[in-house]
Amino acid sequence: MTHLLHRSIHSAPRVARTAQGIRFIDTEGRDYIDASGGAAVSCLGHGHPDVLAALHAQLDKLAYAHTGFFTSDVAEELADRLVADAPAGLDHVYLVSGGSEAVEAALKMARQYFTETGQPQRRHIIARRQSYHGNTLGALAAGGNEWRRAQFKPLLMEAHHIAPCFAYREQLAGETDADYATRAAGELETKILELGPDTVCAFIAEPVVGATAGAVPSVGDYFKQIRAICDKYGVLLILDEVMCGMGRTGSLYACEQDGVVPDLLTIAKGLGGGYQPVGATLLSDRIYQAFAQGTGFFQHGHTYMGHPMAAAAALAVQKVIARDNLLSNVQAMGAHLRARLQATFGQHAHVGDIRGRGLFQAIELVADRDTKAPLDPARKLHARIKAEAMARGLMVYPMGGTIDGVRGDHVLLAPPFIVTPEDVDQIVGRLAEAV
Ligand code: PMP
Repeated sequence: MTHLLHRSIHSAPRVARTAQGIRFIDTEGRDYIDASGGAAVSCLGHGHPDVLAALHAQLDKLAYAHTGFFTSDVAEELADRLVADAPAGLDHVYLVSGGSEAVEAALKMARQYFTETGQPQRRHIIARRQSYHGNTLGALAAGGNEWRRAQFKPLLMEAHHIAPCFAYREQLAGETDADYATRAAGELETKILELGPDTVCAFIAEPVVGATAGAVPSVGDYFKQIRAICDKYGVLLILDEVMCGMGRTGSLYACEQDGVVPDLLTIAKGLGGGYQPVGATLLSDRIYQAFAQGTGFFQHGHTYMGHPMAAAAALAVQKVIARDNLLSNVQAMGAHLRARLQATFGQHAHVGDIRGRGLFQAIELVADRDTKAPLDPARKLHARIKAEAMARGLMVYPMGGTIDGVRGDHVLLAPPFIVTPEDVDQIVGRLAEAV
């Protein structure tokens, strides 16, 4: 019997005792390789001495300050650092406690921007089908994952959904990536015109789709076209990098690889590497100025925003990533992981796709590798793979084919940035046994 709701309903009855580097040990003394970084969170692994030292020092100095009275030197330094490293034009930072809070803040910033600039009728949010942007009611309403939304309808603010950019599954025979990108991005323009351009507030998407689809990058110049359509109709672009950001794909921000700068950018997970709950919304100066010259502030707030311990964790994690040049290890080990997955699963009768960027890679399991027909969701293959992997001491992040009945089961791998070639070989070896 456990009194923890999230344990009794959600997960296998295992209790973690410690974790060090890329390994967990449970209360039975069994060890597990953390090949998922939890949920793409643990970028430095566990127990990193520099992060622990920074946290201990911060605890001695200042554990909490309410933003109504003070910010803190550590939160100021983190904000400076995030802006210095962010794509040019994202000049302001709002620090919160996680991904859903970051998305909620972005949605509210987008709406307040239009209220402040005399266009309060711009309220519609457009997102993509099979997307996930968080579990709070606003973020849930924005996302397009029916399986997560169904129990809570009617949602507070229904978003409008267009097709995702899943070229591998939706490309027509003979269609090039460039043509597909134009067709998929064109859905945004169609939706904006259908709703009425002066009623649309923002479009939100993940540059590399994480949990719902398993490390799916866009193709061609999809996001450049999306940016141009948003600009044409004055719609704000929100990129959700809660999962794919902070180095996971090999560049600090995934959107750098797509050559676009959003108006609002959400980050969390890898920002604090799991050492503290922390997230952030980055915003353009244009949005900031609308607040500054209007109400004078962003009409929002949480008790724990800008928490000094969270800021200290994030700052220490980001400093280690830069000092140890870990993004180059993400690129090198990402390429090695991809090659090992290709060699191991490339010819597998039930592997329909192997994809991803950096240390954000996935295999998709299908009924037929040629037609990509999904497996019967009732078989819950993803859950069986998770159980078989855990039995072999491997933590991976599988997700089921239950999403709108069209996705295949996939297994996402997002190990810490510190993995070695030997770690990667061991991860793929254990996954092959589990599959
Ligand atoms: N956006 C994306 C893209 C995510 O992957 C997640 C978490 N899986 C969230 C938002 C929500 O973040 P959190 O769980 O920290 O609230």
